[in-house]
Amino acid sequence: MIDLKGKRALVFGVASETSIAWGIAQKLAAAGATVTLGYQKRFLSRLMQLTKDIPWIEGKFECDVAEEESVQRFFEEAPGDFDILVHAIGFAPAEALGRPVIFTEQKDFETAMTVSAYSMIRLARNALPRMNAGGSMLTLTYLGSERVVPGYRIMGTAKAALESVTRELAALVGQRGVRVNAISAGPIKTLAASGVPGFDKILGWMAHCAPLKRNVTQEDVAGAALFFASDLASGVTGQILYVDAGYSIMGVPPGLDALLSSQAAPGETPVQEARPA
Ligand code: NAP
Repeated sequence: MIDLKGKRALVFGVASETSIAWGIAQKLAAAGATVTLGYQKRFLSRLMQLTKDIPWIEGKFECDVAEEESVQRFFEEAPGDFDILVHAIGFAPAEALGRPVIFTEQKDFETAMTVSAYSMIRLARNALPRMNAGGSMLTLTYLGSERVVPGYRIMGTAKAALESVTRELAALVGQRGVRVNAISAGPIKTLAASGVPGFDKILGWMAHCAPLKRNVTQEDVAGAALFFASDLASGVTGQILYVDAGYSIMGVPPGLDALLSSQAAPGETPVQEARPA
């Protein structure tokens, strides 16, 4: 049983009950942590409804990670020291997601990079002086950082930058006893995900190909986040953990696997018929 009693978490990226950040906040709280939320004004009423009368929420303060002043204000308003920081924020303008990457406008590129990748640097810089030794920073990334996923476009570039930032920060803050890691989550239907064209098809394809034959859930990702937040991960930093039902290990889709098996040469055992000794 992981015990986070007395630990204080900062969680950025709760927009609705489907948010990955919300799943993580609930999981950290179930282990005993208290949580302070940073939110964007846009969904304020929905957030207030969602978090009303929840005893483990210590505070909620507006924080637009695209603005240095907003982040500084957040850290002025949120008192005390912290043990856990969760950055679950991503955004690219719809125009940029809607057109081939070669037509990306510079302003949209900059927005995607600022909100999705630079924001991790900004939050880490502001939080670090108040992070306790043994602390854990965590961000959320996606396979589109290293492979071409239809519709993900410029977000893939931003996630590649975010993964690099994760390693750079981990190398820098390790001497303070703070760890920085990332979870590369499989697709989950959230508000941000609904902005990715063809997302439902991606969900279906991934479940079809993944070794676990399903999509991952908020709960799956939150479990891994709890691990990173806890002492169980005390020796782990700068890493990207795939929580994707195993999709990322597959070299070919399952249909092709079956086809290859049916074409096995005489004397070869088709894959489906192979049994452990
Ligand atoms: P979500 O519920 O829509 O959360 C995204 C959050 O980012 C929202 O709370 C959004 O706030 C916030 N955000 C956007 N711009 C911001 C800004 N300037 N300042 C502060 N917050 C801002 O979607 P999610 O899927 O849980 O996304 C969380 C993270 O997981 C993202 O980094 C995403 O890329 C990553 N991820 C998601 C999936 C997936 O399939 N869902 C897979 C892998 C990784 P507003 O909505 O108010 O703008």
